[in-house]
Amino acid sequence: MNGDRVKIAERLKELLIESSPLIEKFTAVTCPGCIDVCCRQKHGLYRERDIGYLQALGIDVPQRDSSRPLEGPCESMGPQGCIQPRWIRPFLCTWYFCDPLLAALNEAPQKQARRLTGVMQEMIDLYDYFSRE
Ligand code: SF4
Ligand code: SF4
Repeated sequence: MNGDRVKIAERLKELLIESSPLIEKFTAVTCPGCIDVCCRQKHGLYRERDIGYLQALGIDVPQRDSSRPLEGPCESMGPQGCIQPRWIRPFLCTWYFCDPLLAALNEAPQKQARRLTGVMQEMIDLYDYFSRE
């Protein structure tokens, strides 16, 4: 069972790496002008499934500063966006699509949108594994 857990975490990591440039095609258009940036401290917290996934990979879960206001900017936010690679971020940071992002996805070529939607679904299914242990 532990071997399955590691394989699932490794596959999820691969998909997070693969999906990152696909997602960034959209965020590069929508995020620079955003006036209500979603990267708040509360969204960058690691939840049970994030912890299970990172532990299966043998990675230390990044510590969060509990003195920071939850509604304030996330501590991983740098001048050019998130300083953490996507595969280490909490999964919420990847599956959250705000309305402008969803609109951009709907306007994208069908092939591109289908590919991203397929990868997202596979990632959601794998991530769910870490809540069933
Ligand atoms: S994902 Fe949406 S809400 Fe978050 S920074 Fe980009 S445009 Fe703004
Ligand atoms: S994407 Fe990065 S900066 Fe934004 S909430 Fe997630 S961890 Fe924080």
